[in-house]
Amino acid sequence: MAPYAFAIVSLGFLLFFAHLILNALQRKRDYLWYRQLWCYKRLPLSRKQYLQAFPFYSALSPKYRVQFEHRVCCFIADKKFKHRYGQPVSNEQVVLVAAVACQLSFGRRDYLYAFLDTILYFDEPFQSPANNEIHKGEYNPRARALALSWADFKTGLDITTDNLHLGLHEFTHVMHIESERHTGMDSYRYHKYHQLILRELMDAKLRNRLSSTPFFRDYAFTNQYEFMAVLTEYFFESPQEFRVHFPKLFHHLKMALLFDDAWLHQSEY
Ligand SMILES: [Zn+2]
Repeated sequence: MAPYAFAIVSLGFLLFFAHLILNALQRKRDYLWYRQLWCYKRLPLSRKQYLQAFPFYSALSPKYRVQFEHRVCCFIADKKFKHRYGQPVSNEQVVLVAAVACQLSFGRRDYLYAFLDTILYFDEPFQSPANNEIHKGEYNPRARALALSWADFKTGLDITTDNLHLGLHEFTHVMHIESERHTGMDSYRYHKYHQLILRELMDAKLRNRLSSTPFFRDYAFTNQYEFMAVLTEYFFESPQEFRVHFPKLFHHLKMALLFDDAWLHQSEY
């Protein structure tokens, strides 16, 4: 074999083994050896104004704002945004939904929600085709679509003291279901910490304390999906209270999301 061919084959083997070792380390130690390689995309001014008014974006340090804006642009390019009855979808509707999605997935490398293609806007709560009940939001993994009542999505954003946040709630369902079907590093970690959260819940004392916490609504105990969604609303709206009262659950969710205090100017986490 010619020396240069030998060098190429050796390099290939070396890269392959490096890949295996890095993957094993990332799984064991819960980190990403890279999270964001490129960030060059910028929103047009007509859309940027909505990002600038988005509290999580404002709380980020400048380096992470650049990453966040790039991710929001990529999310917008990757998804379809449709109004259920064919009305136009506004820049505000597109940017705010993309921003909430990217807020939840900001710690991940895979931040684009691979099992979601379409955001479907309703003006108000709507009747679910699955069970005829009235819903404010609904993720349909088969249709790869997330339906949202815009009025309730907006209320969830505007009122930050009630631990109700429809956008974070619904995107948690999307992320959760992705973690059951996907083999990527981020899904692996989410699934791992979700299991640890469920194990914590085996403790009856903890369950009782959770259900007697006024801000932690009973709806969380409907099933494991609702539990993760409500926990996530609590994590982003009342981080201090959550961390003090339920430190283990807080830690596990923080690791599931790979949330990093270093992103923020002033961290409550
Ligand atoms: Zn739900």
